Amino acid sequence: MSNKKLLLQTGSQTKAVHAGERPDSGTGASAPNIVMSSTFVVDETVSFSALNLDEDTPYMYSRWSNPTVTQLEDKLTALEEAEACVAFASGMAASTAVLLSFLSHGDHLVISSTNYPGTAELARKTLPRMGISVTPVDTGNPAAIESAIKKNTRMVWLETPSNPLINITDIAKAAQIAHSNHSLLAVDSTFATPIATKPLSLGADLVIHSLTKYIGGHGDAMGGAVLGNREHIAHLHNEGVIHHGGVISPFNAWLIMRGTATLPIRMRVHQENAQIIAEYLEGHDSVELVRYPGLKTHPDHDIATKQMSNFSGMLAFRVNDPHAVARKMMKKLEIFHYAVSLGHHRSLIYLMETKDLVTSSYELTGFDLDRYRRIAGSGLFRVSIGLENHEDLIKDLDQIL
Ligand SMILES: *Cc1c(COP(=O)(O)O)cnc(C)c1O
Repeated sequence: MSNKKLLLQTGSQTKAVHAGERPDSGTGASAPNIVMSSTFVVDETVSFSALNLDEDTPYMYSRWSNPTVTQLEDKLTALEEAEACVAFASGMAASTAVLLSFLSHGDHLVISSTNYPGTAELARKTLPRMGISVTPVDTGNPAAIESAIKKNTRMVWLETPSNPLINITDIAKAAQIAHSNHSLLAVDSTFATPIATKPLSLGADLVIHSLTKYIGGHGDAMGGAVLGNREHIAHLHNEGVIHHGGVISPFNAWLIMRGTATLPIRMRVHQENAQIIAEYLEGHDSVELVRYPGLKTHPDHDIATKQMSNFSGMLAFRVNDPHAVARKMMKKLEIFHYAVSLGHHRSLIYLMETKDLVTSSYELTGFDLDRYRRIAGSGLFRVSIGLENHEDLIKDLDQIL
């Protein structure tokens, strides 16, 4: 990779455009080619074992590695300022690979009590079946992480900002606590992106992204990635990609790479729009509560200010009778799409029902359930603010609220 060293010193916009790419040596093509080939003609004997890979191993079979996927991984490595990256077919494939490659029978995991529902369900339902015990805690409270840690705690997993409450966790504090017990800290940084937060620089060992969201940015390709040091990523590549098989299609990698080029400038507009809309919602009579890290009323605004250089475009709000409002949204919204997912150029809104989440995904009871209900009521609208004109987005919401 000829431009790796040069790009080390450049700003994030330059990295987003150039890192991992170079003109094609055969044709001079300026834009990256898509290499869809599943197999490669080799002129030397290459070991077929996943255990004998090194950086100089030639391309042989696309479940091992693929030139287009490598380009995406190099771009993300540069943006996150990591040593290495491995891409996956989806954010969930990335999360599953991390949990199953680093945890074994008898290990213990501490995880956010509320986070992405897929990860929450995997941790609570699948891991215990494999003899891995799991303690969900409010990671926003460092004392709660500390008291959940046991001798066999091998990993602390947190998500910040988190689904769907937009909770913030102090990554540096969580890293200190995890490391004092020789546990790994894994951070799902999908809502933040490398533009807002660099968890590795705050002490995290592994960063997970759903590339389907901000990094791809256009809602047309699924992917995931994990970043960290060379040793951890090599282990994940062997187990999580080559053996578990969650490989990303080169076509998706190419689409996501094209999206990544504009990530820094998109994040600026996502943040600008989200701040304006969060303030509009906060001033609206029908809105009971707004959660956005850029608002001074967010209880963790100070931590967010410390560890985020962009507050991202994700917010949540609560109204009285959210189900009636949701029905109105499905019929009347003209610009927002009433749809799940997030991080796209298009604005998205969706009701995250408390009843569903607290029973099926989070299994909350007692004090934790009360705390969840105090913020979310019977449901929160999760909003992913897109790149449209904020005046138009406000007009669209105003006819509903
Ligand atoms: C969407 C999402 C995931 C899962 O990613 P997929 O690409 O949908 O598999 C994981 N974590 C967070 C925070 C997400 O928003």
